[in-house]
Amino acid sequence: RELRVELEERSYPIYIGEGLLNETGAMFEKHGITAKSPVLIISDENTAGLYLRRVEDALKQKGYRTASYSVPAGEQSKTLALLQDAVTVALEAGLDRSSTVIALGGGVVGDLAGFVAATYMRGIRFVQIPTTILAHDSSVGGKVAVNHPLAKNIIGAFHQPDFVLYDIDTLKTLPIREVRAGLSEVIKHGLIWNEDFAYWCEANASKLLALDSEALIYALYEGCKVKSIVVSQDERENDLRAILNLGHTIGHALEAVAGYGELLHGEAIAIGMIGAARISVKMGQPQDVLTVTERIFNAFGLRTAIPAHLDTDSIMSAMMHDKKFKEGTMVFILPKAIGKVEIHKDVPISLVKETVDFLK
Ligand code: NAD
Ligand code: ZN
Repeated sequence: RELRVELEERSYPIYIGEGLLNETGAMFEKHGITAKSPVLIISDENTAGLYLRRVEDALKQKGYRTASYSVPAGEQSKTLALLQDAVTVALEAGLDRSSTVIALGGGVVGDLAGFVAATYMRGIRFVQIPTTILAHDSSVGGKVAVNHPLAKNIIGAFHQPDFVLYDIDTLKTLPIREVRAGLSEVIKHGLIWNEDFAYWCEANASKLLALDSEALIYALYEGCKVKSIVVSQDERENDLRAILNLGHTIGHALEAVAGYGELLHGEAIAIGMIGAARISVKMGQPQDVLTVTERIFNAFGLRTAIPAHLDTDSIMSAMMHDKKFKEGTMVFILPKAIGKVEIHKDVPISLVKETVDFLK
């Protein structure tokens, strides 16, 4: 399946299907990428071991020269130090203005490699080969970044890929916990924009968890589509794009307090979406918003409660630290119905605290 992301500055396709890694070289040709300039493939230790050879071979068959750079797995690899290492490899391999950087991995590799592509010689071509479900989210929108010790994603740029090659076969090696957590962002895209798709996710939970090809291709397609519609209506992050943060206010706070590892991002925002639904109901929306949201996450075996040992006050202060707030109220993305959200500027902090307590 093919989806076009239409943005003002450029438009690019996302190819979603089986066996696509082997087509990497052919896709490079199709997109007019010259074989005269070397290609740099950035991966992490897991995706390098599993898929690097396949991508290299597919490119070599079409006459492309490749270099590769692999980082340790995990968020701690999104640093300026590793960006500089990658540039060293790029220089040594002779990458020039017509070269391409490939991101072969999840969101971590995508963000790092994308920022390398955005900054090397003031910007070269970029191709995403996402290998996690969560990366359906990071492969649309062009946000690329590394972290600073004081703040996540604070050093970055907008840099769109030439194309995205989403080979769902690669998802078969993902730990089931990563599958579940990634699906939580897919579900989010249904909850913010597309009621039918949200209910479809619920009905197809077991197929998706079993990585049924047809279901997975459809879900990734619909998830990317919602993200691309929202992003194309708001390319530089004004207001609309904020709706993509459903569940993230509470979710980010939980991630920060739990310490990395205990809660994956997708797990934390699933709880955050339950929290937002509960706040919404308390502020007058129909009870359904909460019961259906809970039902959907239950169908996927995603936890809907905050781990009891996390301290409410720490969660609250992480939230206040993270977000703008004024005079006892906070800004929240709240569901109005399944498939619809609104940005609410005056959610009482006391209600948020009560909700956090209740969810434990
Ligand atoms: P990740 O890249 O760390 O991948 C998760 C784990 O799965 C890692 O250990 C990785 O090595 C492993 N892995 C990846 N593919 C695999 C495969 N096919 N088989 C086996 N193991 C595999 O994390 P993620 O969840 O994909 O992405 C999270 C990152 O994405 C965060 O840094 C976040 O900031 C970023 N992100 C960016 C955007 C954006 O718009 N740019 C959006 C959402 C998230
Ligand atoms: Zn997220």
